[in-house]
Amino acid sequence: MPTTAAAAAREILVRLHEVMAARSAAQTKLNGVVNIIGEALDSEVCSIYLLREGVLELFATRGLDERAVHVTKLALGEGLVGTIAKNVETLNLDEAAAHPDFAYRPETGEDRFHSFAGVPIIRRERAVGVLAVQHVDPRRYADVEIEALQTVAMVLSELIANAGLIDDAASDSTRPLATGPNRIAGFKLVDGMGAGVAVFHQPRVVIEHILADDVEAERRRVYAAFDKMRDQIERMASQAEFGVGGEHDEVLETYKMFAYDEGWARRINEAIDSGLTAEAAIERVQQRTRMRMREISDPLLADRMHDLEDLSNRLLRIVAGQLGTAAQMGLRQDTVLIARNLGPAELLEYDRRRLKGVILEEGSLTAHVTIVARAMGVPVLGRVRDVKRLIAEGDRILLDAGAEAVIVRPSTAMEEVFEARMAVGQKRRAAFAAQRGEPPVTRDGTRVTLMVNAGLRDDVAALDLTGADGIGLFRTEFQFLVSATLPARERQQRLYRDVLDAAGDRPVIFRTVDIGGDKALPYLDHDEDHLEENPAMGWRALRLALDREGLMKAQARALLEAGAGRTLNVMFPMVSEPWEFDQAQALFEAQRRWLGERGKKLPIDVRYGAMLEVPALAEVLDLLLPRLDFLSIGTNDLTQFLFAADRAHPKLALRYDWLSVSILRFLRRVVRPMQAAGKPVAVCGEMGGRPLEAMALIGLGIERLSITPAAVGPVKAMVRSLDLPRLRADLAAMLDMPSGPIRPQLEAWAARHGVELA
Ligand code: PEP
Ligand code: MG
Repeated sequence: MPTTAAAAAREILVRLHEVMAARSAAQTKLNGVVNIIGEALDSEVCSIYLLREGVLELFATRGLDERAVHVTKLALGEGLVGTIAKNVETLNLDEAAAHPDFAYRPETGEDRFHSFAGVPIIRRERAVGVLAVQHVDPRRYADVEIEALQTVAMVLSELIANAGLIDDAASDSTRPLATGPNRIAGFKLVDGMGAGVAVFHQPRVVIEHILADDVEAERRRVYAAFDKMRDQIERMASQAEFGVGGEHDEVLETYKMFAYDEGWARRINEAIDSGLTAEAAIERVQQRTRMRMREISDPLLADRMHDLEDLSNRLLRIVAGQLGTAAQMGLRQDTVLIARNLGPAELLEYDRRRLKGVILEEGSLTAHVTIVARAMGVPVLGRVRDVKRLIAEGDRILLDAGAEAVIVRPSTAMEEVFEARMAVGQKRRAAFAAQRGEPPVTRDGTRVTLMVNAGLRDDVAALDLTGADGIGLFRTEFQFLVSATLPARERQQRLYRDVLDAAGDRPVIFRTVDIGGDKALPYLDHDEDHLEENPAMGWRALRLALDREGLMKAQARALLEAGAGRTLNVMFPMVSEPWEFDQAQALFEAQRRWLGERGKKLPIDVRYGAMLEVPALAEVLDLLLPRLDFLSIGTNDLTQFLFAADRAHPKLALRYDWLSVSILRFLRRVVRPMQAAGKPVAVCGEMGGRPLEAMALIGLGIERLSITPAAVGPVKAMVRSLDLPRLRADLAAMLDMPSGPIRPQLEAWAARHGVELA
């Protein structure tokens, strides 16, 4: 046996090449293979077991009793062979019978052999068979021999798949290491349920050819792929398009480290030396790393290995010329998308009708992709560990973000439970949809205004589907978030015009961009000298827009042009002092004049509103009121500032209640002067989309709500069952003289007065 792994494997592969190229039957080839390997490894026994009908069947042997071929069968996990296949691991034992999983099969006559080494034959990450050698002497096989066996096993996987020797299911599906139903926990990023097949955002490459015809040509392919991959990573780092710092920077650093790692490149080169194609060599080295990794339990190292896996797939895709994402290939059926992380633009490339859910290994509540997925109505589960190992492409997936879990390869009973839960939700939605023509009027005849929050062009469809009164918050920054560069004024204008056209007579309130802070745009430079520690309280929204006049002017022009001939509603986010509102309004008015002087058609009317998100504004609302056409309370930001509690922090998510005395009293204080001045006041934060909270808001006199489209039905049902004068009086009493938490009191009140709370 040669002393280097590459030479050892090469010697065997050269001989295998002849066997494989011969026009003989698959069984004859397998018989040839066991003889070649047995001789090369100086082993009395060499056997091949293949997975057929769920069990491992002895297909070919040199050294064991011939009569055992196609007779000896082992279940997955049974005996040494079954253990290798089940765990997709290599065993190398000097005394086989001493291993706890050893199972003696008398028909094989194997009791004479002491040493045993076996490697899994892997197809698409799942063991489809086992290649084993045995020796009379009790000696462990050398590392070079094991390496050679593993390389041969790769070649065998091609042979047996092409010859149709293994289960269809095993060769066709991309089973992961785990099989059978599995429940994996995650973190709810966007609520909802969805079922479909697992599709990886970056699909795995299926390796068609394993044995190289021209070693030098394969080497050139790998060199070129390495160059290309390094370029890509340098570009990612220089454009910082990869993310928003923190975790991502670390990932990039690790990518760089591996991309330039000589050891990795050398091992791939050695695998090519042994006679493998470039693709097979990359995969072979990756397989070896995966096996080593399983022996290490250090989570930090596991993370780094995960990065190497990503990079290895990238290299494989480059070398195989398969660069597209799953979106570019098109979704063919209902899909649950799986990715380490996604950018909002990448998510938007998917066909919304077929995208039933997203599973991310990372992800956070405020990530752009989460905001966009919420707007698309796609449930998202984040922080799901180990997806590549636990889920395979094509697996059936049931995603239940509300339950913070995904079920992979569900049993029939699991499907039934899931379907029943989905059906309950669907029935409720259908009942709400049937009521879309009914006005949101309370029992005593008060007409409440229910509008929807939107941000994407397609969101306008929600108006017709829900029967909402208009768009109470159009988050214009979405277009900025999903663009690779600052959207040109014409592009902004086109979007605003399309939205207004689709809304028809119904009002649309455009909020000027709320970017900066955690919604940083890669193409917009920030204050490089200052890393924001509290981005939510940082240089964002109107603060940033007023400092960046060019940006605000372009948006003002785009909105004024799009609103030509109609009433335009403009709202400024994060107004903290009246002068900020005045300055923004003045900027819009200057643009309006400029357009007018050039004879451009203008809006019939421009109405200006402020978002109340910063508590300080409440204190000076009277000063701003005369110039204000309307006010919208952004309770998401407002409550985080009132309680000094980061709205994205999972540990604080349940700590403070929207129905607390402090928030409700604060809102009451804001509502009073607005009512006295006869000016509209709305709530456009998530709070308004929850029926009980919405009931409290209406009870405080906030009769305009802008909410997520899915909430329109439940909130309307609540409104239509509400006796408002009674609620007003009782809620006022609860707030004047609080006797304990408000939520249970309001729940009891709703139950007593027959209020429908879905
Ligand atoms: C809010 O803060 O309540 C709001 C509606 O704005 P956003 O969620 O976009 O910050
Ligand atoms: Mg806000």
